[in-house]
Amino acid sequence: MSANKKLLILPGDGIGPEIMREVRRVIDWMDRRGLVHFDLQEDLVGGASLDVHGVPLTDACLARARAADAVLFGAVGGPQYASFGFDKRPELAILGLRAGLGLFANLRPAQVFDALAAASTLKPEIVRGLDIMIVRESTGGIYFGQPRGIETLPDGTQRGINTEVYTTAEITRVARVAFEMARQRQGRVTSVEKSNVMESGLLWRQTVQALHDAEYADVALTHMYADNCAMQLVRAPRQFDVILTSNLFGDLLSDLASMLTGSLGMLASATLGAADAAGRRPALYEPIHGSAPDIAGRGIANPLAQILSFAMLLRYSFALEKEAALVERAVAATLSAGLRTADIMAPGCTQLGTTAMGDAVLRELDKLAA
Ligand code: NAD
Repeated sequence: MSANKKLLILPGDGIGPEIMREVRRVIDWMDRRGLVHFDLQEDLVGGASLDVHGVPLTDACLARARAADAVLFGAVGGPQYASFGFDKRPELAILGLRAGLGLFANLRPAQVFDALAAASTLKPEIVRGLDIMIVRESTGGIYFGQPRGIETLPDGTQRGINTEVYTTAEITRVARVAFEMARQRQGRVTSVEKSNVMESGLLWRQTVQALHDAEYADVALTHMYADNCAMQLVRAPRQFDVILTSNLFGDLLSDLASMLTGSLGMLASATLGAADAAGRRPALYEPIHGSAPDIAGRGIANPLAQILSFAMLLRYSFALEKEAALVERAVAATLSAGLRTADIMAPGCTQLGTTAMGDAVLRELDKLAA
């Protein structure tokens, strides 16, 4: 049993605290079984922090996040904050944590559980067994490049400008994450850009290839144009293992890939920074859905994306592959038994609330560990 794993839990707003409660029960289960012990801290973030401290992310909370080995985040935001100024929006907490922890690689798995294959808008035979990891650069590219803005031309019309810009260092550090991820998976990376029409894309392709040849020749690398990748994701998505791409293309392709799985309440994500000399890598794990204010407080939210975010945390922050797989298998078994929350309900299945879904996952964990 390993000790001193520091975990900061930030439930946030809306359904955040409800679904995080179910993860806490999984963490307690692992502790009781002697599998993993965490030093847990919990803090307010987003609207919950605004209510108490007047800011969405306090310096103390950020300091706790920096001191932690990993951060497990719920969701932030809600209609009660919609009228707040842009400097006081709950969502700023996420940006503050990403900047403060130096997180630049966004990992979005798109995995189809057998029992949910029919929930996809694609045919089950196309998506069954799908398991893709999209590694998206998340702090550079066109969303941040200069120059940007809207300017007025001499004839009175206007011109909007954004700039796609990537340096070798930015490409190398995110490509490294993708190659390392591939080594823990099926060993294949597809690097996606538009090197046929964009210089930044050409530099992306050359840089990824050079890093591959120098350090990751054991990983199978292919290059693909982004438009073709979008098409291939719908045509034959199982051809992919790890997809490595820029901020803009990753934004689009990861949403596309998510929907192949058919359910928002099932999807986890991670954002990673650079590993230090001791191999310690800042990391934040969260479901891709938001705070779902429309169902908050009703006990019906699906806790599985949050639980699967915790499984990612076990695997990528602590290399606890066996324990991560145990949690994932318990989720899969729960679904195979026909148990569903309202958002993924299907004919012939049994509908459960948030706590009962947590109970079901714990029962499966008990069975798997027996
Ligand atoms: P949302 O993801 O919160 O909800 C979209 C729809 O999916 C809703 O109908 C909701 O009920 C449902 N849903 C989402 N998660 C679910 C779950 N676990 N179980 C069952 N149903 C679920 O997106 P939204 O409604 O556009 O945004 C609501 C708030 O969340 C906004 O304030 C937004 O800014 C914020 N948001 C936060 C994050 C984040 O914290 N990372 C991400 C996206 C949106």
